[in-house]
Parts: sequence; structure tokens; C-alpha cells
Amino acid sequence: MAAHRVVVIGSGFGGLFSTQALRGRGDVELTLIAKTTHHLFQPLLYQVATGILSEGEIAPSTREVLARQDNARVILGTVTEIDLEARTVTSVVLDQTTVTPYDSLVVAAGAGQSWFGNDHFAAHAPGMKSIDDALELRGRIFSAFEWAELATTPEDAAAYLTFVVVGAGPTGVEMAGQIAELSRRTLARDFRSIDPTSARIILLDAAPQVLPAFGEGLGASAQARLEAMGVEVRLGARVVDVDESGLVVESANGTRERIESACKVWAAGVQASPLAAQLAERSGAGLDRAGRIEVLPDLTVPGHPEVFVVGDMISLNQLPGVAQVAIQGGRYAARQIANRLDGRPADGPFTYRDKGSMATISRFSAVASIGRLQFSGFVAWVLWLAVHLVYIIGFKHRVTTLLHWAVSFLGRGRSERTVTHRQLFARAAMEQLGDDFRPTLPLS
Ligand SMILES: Cc1cc2nc3c(=O)[nH]c(=O)nc-3n(C[C@H](O)[C@H](O)[C@H](O)COP(=O)(O)OP(=O)(O)OC[C@H]3O[C@@H](n4cnc5c(N)ncnc54)[C@H](O)[C@@H]3O)c2cc1C
Repeated sequence: MAAHRVVVIGSGFGGLFSTQALRGRGDVELTLIAKTTHHLFQPLLYQVATGILSEGEIAPSTREVLARQDNARVILGTVTEIDLEARTVTSVVLDQTTVTPYDSLVVAAGAGQSWFGNDHFAAHAPGMKSIDDALELRGRIFSAFEWAELATTPEDAAAYLTFVVVGAGPTGVEMAGQIAELSRRTLARDFRSIDPTSARIILLDAAPQVLPAFGEGLGASAQARLEAMGVEVRLGARVVDVDESGLVVESANGTRERIESACKVWAAGVQASPLAAQLAERSGAGLDRAGRIEVLPDLTVPGHPEVFVVGDMISLNQLPGVAQVAIQGGRYAARQIANRLDGRPADGPFTYRDKGSMATISRFSAVASIGRLQFSGFVAWVLWLAVHLVYIIGFKHRVTTLLHWAVSFLGRGRSERTVTHRQLFARAAMEQLGDDFRPTLPLS
């Protein structure tokens, strides 16, 4: 009998874990299509942006991860079209188009950053969703100190040494904490004209508390720790404009203030992959405000039991956009495919098992919420360390990550401070070229 063709879109948590859950099945022929050649461990992107880890440590090659899974093939491509009737997926790489047929489909294309309808902010306040983003931010953060050293007026030096992080969720808190450590510890003795420890780090959010998802107690404890490190936390503050040299913030009482800052980081808001809207339109499913598709309780789309959607793209029972939802969803989808092939009845509806959440604030300090238990400080940090080591993919990556953590947490150093000109400016240059920038395959 012909093998059952499974297509998986995306090599993030949902895509990779659903693929691995079908390992060893000779009756399955699986094709994983993703627009990057790596799996990405997004929770550690902030460490790439702030020079602790290299990009390779958090983004192993998907092909290498799946090299021993004989029933899985990996192809590069951005999926542009899912034809639910013909059961095909169309993907493109530069000027080449590939059409891949499926019997079962798992869509795990994740979410991108949202600037809440102000996409023009992105050029001056990049988000943090990809390796490209993290490397560009690394360039901006380290370069701001270099430019401050060259500044000819105290005002310019101050603007270069002002870092604004928008969004006080886990990513924003982690970024603000790391920029503070970078300026207070790592770079403290490296400059001659400026004092890096005087850098101003501002963490802004329109919400009334830091880390709202962690509850009031842990939020307050994270805020106190950040403030002790010299981070200015401004809550109830909405960003209304962003440009190259600063941003304008509106406080709860309507007063507006301009902050001069060369380096802004956008860590607020997500927007699901546009594939969610395409699938919703074609299947009649609903779409929520973040562009996530309202899936059925078994993670399929209406009228198409062969199409599963998992992870950050879905709207179901108010599940959060976290790695465990994607991992468990990916495994659930794979299990339903296996059940059908084996003639077993389907499992009940997808149920999410919350394993807790955590965020680091600085070295040796974190907050963690696991069920009814709440931890902060060193204990939470040790928990964070252990959990992240378990989920980093590949033994060699775990070893080098541990080594880099020792360099940064026990010492003052950061192993990954390299910044290149293209890393800093390529995105802006490509955007300026617009449609004129159309690279093609070398042999086309
Ligand atoms: C900075 C940051 C920090 C985070 N920290 C935490 C944390 O501490 N704990 C936690 O639990 N969660 C955290 N998250 C959230 C977590 O990473 C996501 O919930 C999780 O990655 C979702 O998995 P996914 O498979 O749905 O999507 P992703 O992991 O985003 O994977 C999507 C995949 O689809 C691919 N793709 C997208 N569009 C296409 C297309 N059109 N064609 C082909 N491929 C496509 C992408 O290249 C990628 O491979 C964080 C996220 C970010 C951005």
C-alpha cells in the first residue's frame, strides 16, 4: 500500500515535535516545509541579541536534527498557498515554486510581531521573532555604545546610551534585564569617553503591571529586581510614535513625552502567520483579533479532519502562545494521524497540560509559576536553567550553551559580541529596494 503522505509546515516547536512523533512509522512519508533551514528556540533569542549565545546554539539545522528519521524529508520554502480541495501545499524559494501533495497536513507556521497597526515603527524598533531580528538587535545594542563613545555632545551621548524596551512581558523583562547587565557588568570597563554603567534602560508597557500573566506577586517582584538593577519601569505608558532618534509615549492621564533614544526594542504584540487567515477563509473557520484561526477541539479546521493547525496560530480555549501549547499540539496531531492509520478511535479533544512559565531577570534571578507554586530569585533561576537545558535541541548545543552561560553568569564576559555592517543595515537596505530586490536561484 502507498505510504500516507504527511506534510508539516514549519520547523518551530509545533512542526518539529509533530514530525518527531511520527518517527519510525514505515507507512508514513513525511515532508517538513519551512522558510528557514533551522529549528528556532525562541525563548533564548534575547541571549543572542545581547551577546551571550551564538545563533547556532539556539537554531540547530532542522535537516541535521531529522537526519536519522528515515521517513522525514526536509525542504526549504515559504508556503504561500494551501489548497484544501486539491490537498496540495505550494511553497516558494526565490523564483522556484514547489507543489507538495498531502493526505494529512499539520500547519505550525507560528506568529510574527505585531506593532498594533503601526508597521512603520518596525524600521526603528525591531521586534524579536527570528535570528535575523536578534542579530540586528545585537548590532544596534552594541553599536549604540560605540556611537556614544564618538558623540560630540553630551545630549547625543545620552540618546545613544538610552535603551527603550517596549512590552513588559517575559521577552521585554529579559531584554531590559540583559541590557542592564551588559552595561553595568560586561561593558563597564571597556570605554574611555563614556561610562557605560550610566546607560538609561527604560521598560515601557501600556498595562498596569510587569509580567501580567505571572500574577501580581511575581510581577511586583520582577519589577523590584529590575529597578534595583537601575531599569526605569514605566507602566500605563502607550507608545504613540517611533522614529530614528526616539519615541513618543502617552501616559494614562494623556500627557505625552518624547524620549530621545537610538536603540529601541519592540517586545509587544503578536500576529499569527497569514496562513491562519487563508485557512480560515477557505474552511469557514473564525479568526480572532491576533489573526489566529479558531480550530475545532481536535485542532482540525471545519470540514477538513485531515488538516491540523497547532501552536501560536490557533485560537482555542484561550490557550496562551507558549512553546508547550505548540509541542503538545504537535504531538496530539501526530497521534491522531497514527490512530487513523492504525484503525484506532480518535483521542478526545485536545487538552493542554500547563507545565508553568518562567522568565529570567538577571543572572541568578528569575520568576517561575508552576501550578499553584510561585518562585522568585535564585531558586527560580536554577529551575529556569534546568528547563532550558532540557529543551535545547542536541547534546553538543547543550554543552556549548552551558559553557557560554558559565562565561556570562560566573564571569563578566559575553562570547558573542561580533557585529557586522550587513547585520545592522541589510534589512533597511532591502526594504528601501522594495520590489527591485528580487534575488533568484543561481541557475535560473
Ligand atoms: C522572544 C520570544 C521569547 C519567548 N519565550 C518563551 C518562553 O520563555 N516560554 C514559552 O513557553 N514560550 C516562549 N515564547 C513563545 C514560543 O516560542 C512560541 O509559543 C512557540 O515557538 C510556538 O511554536 P510554533 O510551532 O507555533 O511556532 P514557531 O516556533 O514560531 O515556528 C513557526 C515555524 O513556521 C515557519 N514558517 C512561518 N511561516 C511559514 C510559511 N509561510 N511557510 C513555511 N514556513 C513558515 C517558521 O520559519 C518556523 O519554522 C517566546 C517567543 C518569543 C518570540
